[in-house]
Amino acid sequence: MDKININELSFEELEKFIEDLGEKKFHARQIFKWLHREKVLDFEQMTDISKALREKLQEKTYILELKVIECQKSKKDGTMKFLIELPDNNAIESVLMRYHHGNTICVSSEVGCKMGCKFCASTKEGFVRQLTASEIEGQLLTVERYTGEKISNIVYMGIGEPLDNYDNVVKSIRLINYPLGLNIGARHISVSTCGIVPNIYRLAKENIQCTLSISLHATTDEKRRETMPIANKYTIKEILDACKEYIRLTGRRISFEYALIYGQNDSKAEAIALAKLLRGMIAHVNLIPVNEIKNGIYKKAPENRIEDFMNTLNSCGVVTTVRRELGSDIDAACGQLRNKYIDKTVDLTRKKYIKKEE
Ligand code: SAH
Repeated sequence: MDKININELSFEELEKFIEDLGEKKFHARQIFKWLHREKVLDFEQMTDISKALREKLQEKTYILELKVIECQKSKKDGTMKFLIELPDNNAIESVLMRYHHGNTICVSSEVGCKMGCKFCASTKEGFVRQLTASEIEGQLLTVERYTGEKISNIVYMGIGEPLDNYDNVVKSIRLINYPLGLNIGARHISVSTCGIVPNIYRLAKENIQCTLSISLHATTDEKRRETMPIANKYTIKEILDACKEYIRLTGRRISFEYALIYGQNDSKAEAIALAKLLRGMIAHVNLIPVNEIKNGIYKKAPENRIEDFMNTLNSCGVVTTVRRELGSDIDAACGQLRNKYIDKTVDLTRKKYIKKEE
């Protein structure tokens, strides 16, 4: 029988697994702590459980280990970008950002992405597969092990669409949130979505108080369809209705991401239209100067236009911030580092990543 990945078990599943081994279920508490808080990679390090139980675990399970293939560190702001290898040799990215309020990690939720947003590097090479919950949580464990630093905030804004991998993402949040594990409060966790409406309603009912970010990027459906294929499936109105339900059930304000693209969505009229759309909602707008990706057609809006856009929103009473550009010297936009590694001559199904010649 194949060994099971013990990191993938929720606390309750681990308790059941331990009981099924004929052991007392309190051992689950010890084991969960070793795996998710102490981040051990070897059963031998679980010093407070018996040798016999350690041997049973070794025989039936394995501890997931993700490998850092490459780590780039920004000389400007200390941002670290990790290219991480999964057990099947696929590669994903995680980014560690330093803010005054602590370390924030941006995690990937899928290998590649199906969503096809035209400005985004993560979707350029297509979709390979969804990540498991432990592969998502494992990005935190790996980066904490590598840096020796504690992570206090998580944003699901790396490669992939979190609400397209709903069950694994929700399970990963519960793993990260669990008091015996990393114990990171849901209020320190943000899930970003391009707007998969039914799953916004589902998330609202999970009883997890995480922050929801909506990648809006346009103020009319017509305009949104120009850059985001998902807009053909769900309208802005449907997304906003789902957001209102999310606010009603969780009491959390929503963050709207708006990538400012020069000449595409950055006019004053659009700032006013955006303020109108969000009127009456507890919302926050995060403006992102669009990151110009390789072979991309979109240009970043100039500083003064970004400022004007922000001022217009603020004067309409919408709380607005501009995302600080971190790691601009290290392939900042998510998906770019991974793309560099995909050797196009190698069939994706062989899942092999070799550094491309520049
Ligand atoms: N699939 C999720 C998470 C993706 S990335 C989502 O769509 O929300 C996180 C944010 O970065 C999203 O708002 C996404 O639209 C935005 N983004 C992607 N590529 C970008 C680029 N080149 N410049 C600026 N923002 C970008």
